[in-house]
Amino acid sequence: MSKKQRFILAFIVAYLIVAFAWWAVLLNNTMKEAHKAQTDTLVTRLLLEQQIDPETDYTQHPSYLSLAQSFAHNRRMLLGEALVIFTSILVFLAVAYRILRLEVSAAEQQSNFLLSITHELKSPIASIRLILETFQKRRELPIPTQEKLATNGLIETDRLTALVNDLLLSARLETSYQLNPEPIDLCSVLQETADKVLHKYPEAQIKLDLNNGLPPVIADRMGLFSIAVNLLENAAKYSQPEPRIELTAYQAGTQEVIFTVSDNGIGIPDEEKRRIWSKFYRIGNEDTRATKGTGLGLYIVRQLVLLHRGHISLEDHQPGSRFIVSLPIR
Ligand code: ADP
Repeated sequence: MSKKQRFILAFIVAYLIVAFAWWAVLLNNTMKEAHKAQTDTLVTRLLLEQQIDPETDYTQHPSYLSLAQSFAHNRRMLLGEALVIFTSILVFLAVAYRILRLEVSAAEQQSNFLLSITHELKSPIASIRLILETFQKRRELPIPTQEKLATNGLIETDRLTALVNDLLLSARLETSYQLNPEPIDLCSVLQETADKVLHKYPEAQIKLDLNNGLPPVIADRMGLFSIAVNLLENAAKYSQPEPRIELTAYQAGTQEVIFTVSDNGIGIPDEEKRRIWSKFYRIGNEDTRATKGTGLGLYIVRQLVLLHRGHISLEDHQPGSRFIVSLPIR
């Protein structure tokens, strides 16, 4: 929610509370005045009927006592109603605020989705087009240049494929993703993933601390690869220019294995730690963000970990972040 929207909301809430308090005070004063007028009329009537004389304490007279009782009763009723209305206003405002926040976050997600997907789709297509045009116009290009261009084109098609796969996977995770469980050696999956990420980010250093005696986990191979690749690629992507990544895996108790991915990157601020798991969520403003991405990676990771009845958490790692994934052994 923007600052302006927050200010308007705070103003409306403050206005409602002040208006309500003012109304309650006014009603109370009016009741007091009415009670005073009724008391004066009663005292005059009692004097005229000579039921009391000017020296008598009229507050002990049964007629006054019943009037005072009814006044006290009305005040209690007013206070009770005021409390009920006030609580209802607060509950209503809390619900309205929640709905508004959900709406705003859905709108933000939608706009993030459009901005990042458009960018992620357009830029590889533009690059591939440029490469093909170059080949078309300049057939005499030296072989090494041709090879370089072809490699770049392939990298761009890989990027497109990864994007389409992520989109399809995230849609399937919401509807029909079926785990295909089998015994898997977690260490070999992590080792393979690290090699793949190193190939894509040669500037990264990945330190592996894998307990090779780990029992196999019963998991979905594709899913496990996807979890590891996303976490390791993020670690490399958000720790430029010199990513130093640590990958550990160990057994905790008899029931679970844990693997962690730590990096020396930009870290994740506390207020973002809950949001980053949402679909299409990326920290900061899409226009100013330097890194490429769609905001799908951590959403996919979390959904896959949950499907495996596992748990994922995140903590600060000075400097950088550490993601901790725990998976049940079976
Ligand atoms: P993407 O990387 O495509 O933007 P993700 O869902 O993988 O999407 O991550 C969501 C956001 O969380 C990222 O945009 C980034 O801001 C933040 N993030 C994820 N991993 C890291 C990390 N290791 N270090 C710092 N920030 C991270």
